Amino acid sequence: MGNKQFAVIGIGRFGASLIKELVSLGHEVLAVDNNPDKINKAVDFATHAVEADAMDEGVLKALGIRNFDVVIVSIGANLQANILTTVMLKEIGVKKIVAKAQDDLHGRVLERIGADLVVYPERDMAVKIANSLSSDSILDYIELSPMYSLVELHAPTRFINKTLAESDFRNKFGINILAVRRNSEVIVSPPADEKVLEGDDLVILGHDDEIQRFSRLE
Ligand code: ATP
Repeated sequence: MGNKQFAVIGIGRFGASLIKELVSLGHEVLAVDNNPDKINKAVDFATHAVEADAMDEGVLKALGIRNFDVVIVSIGANLQANILTTVMLKEIGVKKIVAKAQDDLHGRVLERIGADLVVYPERDMAVKIANSLSSDSILDYIELSPMYSLVELHAPTRFINKTLAESDFRNKFGINILAVRRNSEVIVSPPADEKVLEGDDLVILGHDDEIQRFSRLE
């Protein structure tokens, strides 16, 4: 994956969690916030932490923000600061800008002004949790498009001890099996003669309607 340089602007709960995860994946992360209390905390988990107002273009330039591989704008409640910071990062020529949106309209604005990736952490996490709570078998859920998703679920019992070919998932249920998780092992792109065993989890891809139907099978 390679070691990358990240800057995270706005150290709220999302920004702080993101920094910790990036650092644990081996990346260098600069934390920026205009609140000195946040910076005092961030020095413990970020590679570098700087107290600065991200709306000040001179400050961003002085930080050499242009040289970072990815800059994440995780300023939340202050919509103006979030949008102005994103615009300035774009003008400075940052290679990849990721911005956190509060809602759809805000997200559309961020896309218009040039954010390369807009994230909706609260909404996405709510969708994930709602999906896994609505079914006893769904373990994880990723929306690929408004209609297609990737889901990890416990293999329904009717498929146990049958090969993928015998169960004929694609023709009978309209879904594709991308991987089988067996204990700590993951069999990616399992062959047609792979048998589903008791306790297996399946990583499936399909239309949401088909996934709903499939996840209700016993
Ligand atoms: P979370 O849900 O992730 O906790 P939030 O949506 O509540 O975040 P805020 O706490 O409003 O977000 O903002 C995140 C951080 O952004 C705060 O620590 C705040 O100090 C910082 N921030 C706000 N404006 C600026 C700015 N102009 N420059 C730098 N940091 C800023």
